[in-house]
Amino acid sequence: MRPVAARGVTRLFGSFAAVDGVDLDVAAGEVVGLIGANGAGKTTLIRMLLGLLQPTAGHIRLFGEPPTRERRHRVGYVPQNLGLYRDLTANENLEFWADVFSAAPDDGATPDGLIGELPLGVQRRVAFLAAIEHDPELLILDEPTSGVSPLARAGLWDMIRARAEAGAAVLVSTHYMDEAAQADRLVLMAQGVVAAHGSLSDIVAGRTAVEVVADRWAEAFELLDRTDRRIALAGRAVRVLAEPPDVVAGELRRAGIEATVRVVPATLDETMVVIGS
Ligand code: ATP
Repeated sequence: MRPVAARGVTRLFGSFAAVDGVDLDVAAGEVVGLIGANGAGKTTLIRMLLGLLQPTAGHIRLFGEPPTRERRHRVGYVPQNLGLYRDLTANENLEFWADVFSAAPDDGATPDGLIGELPLGVQRRVAFLAAIEHDPELLILDEPTSGVSPLARAGLWDMIRARAEAGAAVLVSTHYMDEAAQADRLVLMAQGVVAAHGSLSDIVAGRTAVEVVADRWAEAFELLDRTDRRIALAGRAVRVLAEPPDVVAGELRRAGIEATVRVVPATLDETMVVIGS
């Protein structure tokens, strides 16, 4: 039975659709990355998958059944705010969650000190350990690596991957595009809907940016930087989104800035900006 199957899931807040007709599946052993800008609807969708929030329309099945408290025993969840007790130590938190799920506490080394006083990377690791203590078949992680150092992020991803290899279905929301690349499959949300899905290359498929390479790159950037335009610097190359290359080249020429202007494949970040805007 598929760990997650959501069909046409919609959630209105008043007349505003935070999630609008979303289909989502997560199979055992796969890591699905849920990506999208702030406010795209990821957390609202996750809360509905967990049965914490009722959908306005559509239906959700976890292991073939509606999400309920009983089903939660098969699910490990790390919320954005971690769901830890800040006035307990790391071990006390782990013991608490082990008791809740009647699992044996993990006796791996955990640091002393109240959890709220430990570095965020350590807190996130403890939250992850608490979520997997009862060996769940489905793991739902809402931005599990947000605010964590690159090294700690890599460590968390090793643990995520290990759980999937052990057969768990994993749904991870993330803002970090280098992490999105580590998921087996991506679902990109924008303004409540699934705007694109598939592999990283499926999502970026055919999308392009205009790259400007100029000795006077800072001047080129200032010239091209307009409020109605998406523009970025990658090293010293200026990248302009959703604009024909001849328009960009024309502006530079008129300003007397010599530059090489070419069309290049968009990055995932750039694709998200274009889709999400
Ligand atoms: P983030 O990455 O910032 O967590 P997100 O993709 O998870 O963003 P959501 O938190 O799901 O986005 O929010 C989607 C939209 O729904 C936002 O515009 C948010 O303001 C709105 N929203 C979420 N919860 C509520 C609520 N309880 N009442 C009204 N609006 C809400």
